[in-house]
Amino acid sequence: MARARDPIADLRRIAFLLERANEATYRVRAFRSAAKALAGMPAVELTERAGNGTLTELAGVGDVTARCVAESLAGEEPVYLRRLVATEGSDLDAEATALRAALRGDCHTHSDWSDGGSPIEEMALAAVELGHEYLVLTDHSPRLTVARGLTAERLRRQLDHVAQVNAALPEGFRILTGIEVDILADGSLDQDDDLLARLDVVVGSVHSGLKDERSKMTRRMLKAVANPHLDILGHVTGRMVSSRPAGVTGPGDRGHRARTRAESDFDADAVFAACAEHDTAVEINSRPERQDPPKRLIRRALEAGCRFAINTDAHAPGQLDWQRFGCERAALCGVPADRVINTWSAEQLVAWTHTRT
Ligand SMILES: [Zn+2]
Ligand SMILES: [Zn+2]
Repeated sequence: MARARDPIADLRRIAFLLERANEATYRVRAFRSAAKALAGMPAVELTERAGNGTLTELAGVGDVTARCVAESLAGEEPVYLRRLVATEGSDLDAEATALRAALRGDCHTHSDWSDGGSPIEEMALAAVELGHEYLVLTDHSPRLTVARGLTAERLRRQLDHVAQVNAALPEGFRILTGIEVDILADGSLDQDDDLLARLDVVVGSVHSGLKDERSKMTRRMLKAVANPHLDILGHVTGRMVSSRPAGVTGPGDRGHRARTRAESDFDADAVFAACAEHDTAVEINSRPERQDPPKRLIRRALEAGCRFAINTDAHAPGQLDWQRFGCERAALCGVPADRVINTWSAEQLVAWTHTRT
């Protein structure tokens, strides 16, 4: 008899691959909830239920997921997984591949504490599987109520929780604490100074008033960039493009919200000069619908002498692998690895952010 595979691992792997391919959330959920439903079940019961066809009587397990489990238990790679692996993937050129290989962590990610879809633990495990050494957890700040932004009190609780989760994670990996703090209309940051000082990494982004006129937006961004707490300027232009990521094959555009938004208007040269002066990194946001900043602005930030962070802004585990899209764009613009802060180790990264307070 063939040696049994781990059916839970196979279900989680399928969920990850579907999510990475930007497929509809309900499909991803089907596999992840089946994995959750079966995770605690004794192996004997699992085998018995797979044998007599009663897996589907369990909440969260459907025909497709039950078939995958049965195949796994029989020692075969589930057909669903095999097909996914055979048809996915994009061809990155050598430079983008090298840049991706140089990345040791991700500095912009969300959990279900704000508007992400998964618990911190699940995000961390996916990051471990990707080979990351660290994941910076950057849930939203209080004013972004639509995204369940964390109040100071909830953020303090999250910090305690992260310390507990870290204690249980494999050695050589850790979650770094952080925030995606709103840059308010006057350029101040939407969280208490003492908390911002305590966090490992602070990403600051504009989420409101994106149509503000040029001089106002420029002033707002310049003030934020000069704030010593701010380490990374997030999705710089706020634009939304509707195109699908290159190389991703998927089922049409179902499950995608087709919405676009123009870049906000600001003096990019002044903002990038300030980023270079205050040593604030410019984010290259990898989300397919953002692709922010556009390549012409990445080139200008590079010329200005800025550092970069190639981040996913992942709101779900499979999205953590979207860094390759950011790497592709960075490589096209000639961004060298030594200008990218998440090629550093966690220690180097935190040493850098702490010199900035
Ligand atoms: Zn954001
Ligand atoms: Zn974000």
